[in-house]
Amino acid sequence: MTIFQHSPDHLDHKIPVGISSCLLGDNVRYNGGHSHSDYCDKVLTQYFDYQKFCPEIAAGFGTPRPTLRLEGDPNAPRMTFSKNSEEDVSDVFMAASDKYLANLAHLDGYILMKKSPSCGMERIKVYQENGHPHKQRSSGLFTKALMQRYPLLPVEEDGRLNDPMLRENFLLRVFTHHDFRHSVDEKAKMKDLIAFHSRYKYMVMAHSQPTYRKLGQMLSGNDTRSFCALKEAYFEMLMTTFSKPAKRKNHCNVLMHLVGYLKHAVDVSVRKDILEVVEQYRRGEVNLATPVTLLHHYVKHYGSDYINQQSYFIPYPSPLGIRNTV
Ligand code: SF4
Repeated sequence: MTIFQHSPDHLDHKIPVGISSCLLGDNVRYNGGHSHSDYCDKVLTQYFDYQKFCPEIAAGFGTPRPTLRLEGDPNAPRMTFSKNSEEDVSDVFMAASDKYLANLAHLDGYILMKKSPSCGMERIKVYQENGHPHKQRSSGLFTKALMQRYPLLPVEEDGRLNDPMLRENFLLRVFTHHDFRHSVDEKAKMKDLIAFHSRYKYMVMAHSQPTYRKLGQMLSGNDTRSFCALKEAYFEMLMTTFSKPAKRKNHCNVLMHLVGYLKHAVDVSVRKDILEVVEQYRRGEVNLATPVTLLHHYVKHYGSDYINQQSYFIPYPSPLGIRNTV
């Protein structure tokens, strides 16, 4: 049996991921405490090489410190101390953050602390002169700048990682982001991009049939763009498509396609058994791990190299048990 070098189960290094320092237990919060995340620090740390940063400490606000908040225009909020609206600290804050943000192109993901006017990814209140928050919410100032500067970087809040679908989707994007940057690096040629696409076909199909067709057309040889432009367009479409979790019915469609590859290799009764488990998954009676594990078992023994190399089978490290929860 061939062991595929790109499988997340066989990575020989950890993946660089940014994180809010307080999630790793650093006492950098306004009250001198932390917001330690067991999942980030005890589970994901087996696979992630964290680069931690606290933008409020970097801005020199110290700890403990008065609480901060966002005020004004929800599309371009300013940062102030909660008890002193007169003092706009946005420029000081952003000067430190911008300096740090300039050197994050090597990261494959970022995990942020929720509800923070600096690090929160969404739903951050923006206070108005009347003392009430605007109904439109914002991102924290650091995270807003992070997402603007690196729009394809997988970004998630620690709290949202408790949601199985969001957790699955974040990990898929981090491992895909990493795989692409290593497999289709600066020296890559068209054949490397085609090889990458060949491994991701069924994962793309699980997320979107139209994207599956568009990416195929892009690499068909009829696209007149330069390789560099094509590579960028491919990556953008891939990451955008993966930014939403795949639907159950699309997984069923992919699983049925994959069972088709066993047509000449295993008995019809075996294929029927696998398809019955796919139907159980469609009805919500079992989780995604059940049909994928069963199918992968037969594919490992009887499938071609092409089908065995599909990232669909192992998109993130198996010990994380992600597909037992979706
Ligand atoms: S949420 Fe961000 S700014 Fe606040 S303590 Fe944590 S790392 Fe620092």
